[in-house]
Amino acid sequence: MQRRQIVYIPKPTPMERFSQKHLCIAQLCEQRSCELKMINRLKEQQKSLKHRKHGGKDFKDMDHAGFFGVQMLREDKETLKLLDMMQKMSALEAENTVKDFPVFGVLEDVFLTGIIDTLHYDKQRKVVLSDVKTLNKDAELFVAERGEHEFQVGMHKLLFDSMVNGHVKREQYIEHLQLQPRQTLGTKIQGLTQSLGYPSNTFGELLDHVLTTMASSKIKRIAKLKIIYLVEGKDTKTSSGTMWVQFKEGQLRSELKGYLAYWKGQREPKGVDIEDAWKCETCSFKENCEWKNHDLVETRMDCRLQNGSIETGSGTGSKINNCHNSGEVCVQYLHKVSILPTPGT
Ligand code: SF4
Repeated sequence: MQRRQIVYIPKPTPMERFSQKHLCIAQLCEQRSCELKMINRLKEQQKSLKHRKHGGKDFKDMDHAGFFGVQMLREDKETLKLLDMMQKMSALEAENTVKDFPVFGVLEDVFLTGIIDTLHYDKQRKVVLSDVKTLNKDAELFVAERGEHEFQVGMHKLLFDSMVNGHVKREQYIEHLQLQPRQTLGTKIQGLTQSLGYPSNTFGELLDHVLTTMASSKIKRIAKLKIIYLVEGKDTKTSSGTMWVQFKEGQLRSELKGYLAYWKGQREPKGVDIEDAWKCETCSFKENCEWKNHDLVETRMDCRLQNGSIETGSGTGSKINNCHNSGEVCVQYLHKVSILPTPGT
């Protein structure tokens, strides 16, 4: 009797399950805040997309409605993005301030994208990346978000520097985004490439022009990273201070590796750490969150809070504990120790 051969079909990775060809930095920041929350949001998004498709609307057509009022192929749309980026690169090289600069590249075998708020030259003729954030007056929320802001600007620098140093390769761009290099560009798009100085008939030709021009840019790196915090008033926003961010490449890369391990299916997703348990209080998924309702409450740590008063410990990295008095994770400790930036610094 012929023996049946057992064929193992690998489980799809989260990248495949959520149909992600690439990840954007904003999404990694969301993951950094709480991985489970991000996954729940993606699931909801998937459901609503299915609903829209089944609701009779031609979502594909809407998605492809284009720049010239006609349907466009993905290669045409990518061309427009790349041309926009190249115009901004020229403006920056001419020492103008540019906004919404798109960055991309492959790190840890995943295609990442992001948008830099502002790039400009300072008086010492160094390129400065600057990002504006609205200050959250809630102390522990601010401290948590500050970590995400630092991660975001650091990742944007990493991608920008790799673009202008010629580390983005044609094959990576084509393979990760599943584009066709031989695809002929639309007639109007071809005209645009010509008028902007990158004459191309196919997407591959345009991509070659762009990658070569980028790699020969006179700008080789972003020298400084800063975050400007604004405070929201009744009708206006006023500056509350500037934070200069130190670029710690090793730390950034290892953090990134940890997040991407989930996307590659190398580990199970997880919820917030015990220190960040306060985030669950305002989370819209908290009712059905296994992590909050089981894993987190099960965590036992040495309690530093006795009868509501802080006995020891300082700094936001200190542990908060399961309080046996309230039976819930106590947020009081972090309320007391969080730090806001000094205005005007
Ligand atoms: S309840 Fe807490 S752990 Fe669960 S998804 Fe929300 S923030 Fe994350």
